Amino acid sequence: MSTIAFIGLGNMGGPMAANLVGAGHTVRVFDLNPAAVSQLTEQGAIGCKTSCGAVAGAEVVITMLPAGKHVRSLYLGDDGFINKVGSGTLLIDCSTIDSASAVAVAEAAAAQGFEFVDAPVSGGTAGAAGGTLTFICGGTEAGFGAAKPILEGMGANIFHAGGHGAGQVAKICNNMLLSILMIGTSEALQLGRDHGLDAAVLSEIMKVSSGGNWTLEKYNPCPGVMPATPASNDYQGGFMVDLMAKDLSLAMMAAGDSHSSTPLGALATAMYRQHARQGNGSLDFSSIFNQFQK
Ligand code: NAD
Repeated sequence: MSTIAFIGLGNMGGPMAANLVGAGHTVRVFDLNPAAVSQLTEQGAIGCKTSCGAVAGAEVVITMLPAGKHVRSLYLGDDGFINKVGSGTLLIDCSTIDSASAVAVAEAAAAQGFEFVDAPVSGGTAGAAGGTLTFICGGTEAGFGAAKPILEGMGANIFHAGGHGAGQVAKICNNMLLSILMIGTSEALQLGRDHGLDAAVLSEIMKVSSGGNWTLEKYNPCPGVMPATPASNDYQGGFMVDLMAKDLSLAMMAAGDSHSSTPLGALATAMYRQHARQGNGSLDFSSIFNQFQK
């Protein structure tokens, strides 16, 4: 078992840190929100007053933060973790951020002799709570090999996508495709409804036909078709529109860097941004279905 510093105890990080405590690790936690620290302390973690206090003496540092600027500010610079942690400390960032920031931190870490792994996740808050997340890692073979047994305490599937930043690239490719599938499924379901079809019947047909996809199997956007989905719960819970819009912005940034052609990704980005601007940012991303209502 390891001594792990866990920084960023939000919707995802809180339950992930709790699972590491449950797996038997010593977990030192910090968040800017003291209530989040208290909650973890009650679950057996050691609460710390600063991020540097949390990483002192840790064998592994894990961060779960909103965006690249937060990750850069905590790892880099004179006061950054890279200058504060002991030799041999393994650094893992599970946030969804731009791959350029992940590579910048990895290069600074490597210059000081540390392994840094970008390990964004898929599976949402339910996966974080249930310890069933998918981790999509970028880093060296040695870094991935060291990170895997730790990540297994929080997830069910651990992938090595490639070198530094590859985890972030794979994550945004997946989410760009997911957004396109969600929009396309919504559009097709509403077309059927506009012609008098029952959305549940049409979903059953398409699910086993050539239009079948994950959103039809697991996450139908039409209310009432699947009882356990956010769509059947006023689009509450699940994966927020704001977060999908953020991931799509990262995808568009990556596409710009590589001069890739992503016309459907660009359209999905515009649609999710518009949906968020209309006040739907905190709804589940399947609420894009409402854009197709008459
Ligand atoms: P969140 O906003 O709930 O949590 C982020 C936490 O980081 C907050 O508690 C905040 O106080 C803390 N924080 C920010 N700056 C800090 C600092 N300098 N020091 C210490 N703590 C700091 O966000 P979340 O939903 O937990 O998401 C975290 C990351 O996971 C994001 O990058 C997000 O894109 C990604 N993600 C989220 C989901 C999801 O369904 N929520 C799914 C997959 C990936």
